Amino acid sequence: MGLREAAILIGIVSASVCIALFGHIPALRHTPIGYIYRFFKRTLPHAILSTDKRLTGGAITGCLYDSGMFLATEKHPVIVIFYVFLITGGIGVFMLDSYAFLPARHQLLAPLICLLPYITLYKAIYSDPGTITPTNHSAAMTHYPFDHMLFFPGTTCRTCRFVKPARSKHCSICRRCISKMDHHCVWINNCVGRNNTLHFLAFLLATSLLLIYGAWQSAWVITQFVNSEIPPNYPKELIPWTDYITIWTSWMLDLPYTGSIFLLSLLTSLLAVGFTCYHLYLIYAGTTTNESSKWSDWSDDIRASLSYPSPTSPSAPPPPGIYIATKVPPEYAHLPPGLLSGNMAENERSARLEDKGSVNWPKRGEKYYARVEFPEETDERGEGWGGVLPKGEWGWERLEGLEPVENLYDLGFGANLKKVIWPDTV
Ligand SMILES: [Zn+2]
Ligand SMILES: [Zn+2]
Repeated sequence: MGLREAAILIGIVSASVCIALFGHIPALRHTPIGYIYRFFKRTLPHAILSTDKRLTGGAITGCLYDSGMFLATEKHPVIVIFYVFLITGGIGVFMLDSYAFLPARHQLLAPLICLLPYITLYKAIYSDPGTITPTNHSAAMTHYPFDHMLFFPGTTCRTCRFVKPARSKHCSICRRCISKMDHHCVWINNCVGRNNTLHFLAFLLATSLLLIYGAWQSAWVITQFVNSEIPPNYPKELIPWTDYITIWTSWMLDLPYTGSIFLLSLLTSLLAVGFTCYHLYLIYAGTTTNESSKWSDWSDDIRASLSYPSPTSPSAPPPPGIYIATKVPPEYAHLPPGLLSGNMAENERSARLEDKGSVNWPKRGEKYYARVEFPEETDERGEGWGGVLPKGEWGWERLEGLEPVENLYDLGFGANLKKVIWPDTV
C-alpha cells in the first residue's frame, strides 16, 4: 500500500472518527456533521429496513437488524477494541520505524506518552460514573437543586423506580440512572457522569497528547531526512519555502510508515483536541452534553417563536415564546423560580415537592419563566398557555435568546472544575 492509498484510508478513518465524536453534540445539530450522524444512525438503517421489507419481506435485514440493534442499544466493547487496535497499531509502526531516529530524551519520553492513553482508558472504563442505587438515592437527591427549567421535582424513573434526582438521567444502554449524566460514551463503553468526568477528561487529554506528540515526532524524523540532503554549510534561509515543502513532501512519500503516522496523528489529533476543548467548554459553562441538548431545544423553540411578530396593541394576546420575569407578586413568592406552568395546581405541586433545605448547592434560581405555546400545540381543552401569561403585572419580557436565562448549575469555571475533580466537596 502506497502513501496515496494510506492517505485515503486515513482520511476515511478521520472522517468516521469525527462523525462518531461530534455527531451527537447538540450544538452541531444543524451542521453537516449532525446531518451525516443522523443519516447513519437513523435515516440509512430505516431506508435499508423498509426496502428489504418491500423486496424480501425483511429476510435479509432480520439478522442484520439484530446485530445493528445490538451495536446501537447494548453495552459492548467494539469501539474500545477499535480504539486500542488503532493506537496500538500506530504506536507499533512508530516504534518499529521511527523510534530509533529520535534523540535520547524523546526515546525516554515516548514510551511514557504512549502508556498514558491505556492507563486513562482503563480508569475511564472501570470507574463508576455515579450510579444511583436505592442505597445512595437519598444522598443523590441532595447533590443538586431542581432548576425547574431542565429538571423538575417528582419525575420517576420507570426502570429504576425512584424519583429522579436533578441532573440525573437513565442510561438505556447501561440500564441505570446516573448522577449528573453527561452521555454514554462508546469510546470507554461506560457512561460519563458526576463521579468519572475527571477520568474521561484525563483519557481525552492523554489521547490528544499522544496524537500531537506522534505528529510532532514523525514530522521531526522526516525533517531530519530533508536536512540530510542539504549540504551542512548551506544557509537554509536561501531555500524558498515552497521548495522546502516540496522536498519535505517527497520525503514523506519515501518514508511511507513515518508519513502515514504523521498524517494519521495530525488529522485525528485535531479531532481529539476539538473534542477535549468541547468537554472543557462544558465545564466552563457548568453544563453537560445531556443538559446542553435540553438547552438546544429551548433555543430552537425561542428561535421558532420569533417568527411570530410582537402584537401591535397591548390588549392583543402575547405571541408564542418563552417569557422571563425577575420578580413576582408576594402571593406567588412561595413558588420555586423557574418555569411556571399554566396550571396553578401544577406550580403548587412543584413548590411542595421542592426540598430546598437539604440540597448542598450554593446557588438558587431567581428568575421566573413562562411559555406561550404555538397555537397548534395548544390542545382543544385549552391546556398549555393558549396565549395567556400567568395573571398579574409581572413585567414579562419575551426572550430572544438564552443569554438572560440563568443556569443554576454554573458556579463559574474554577468552582465547576473543582466539582469535576472533587465531586463530593461542597
Ligand atoms: Zn433509571
Ligand atoms: Zn451508559
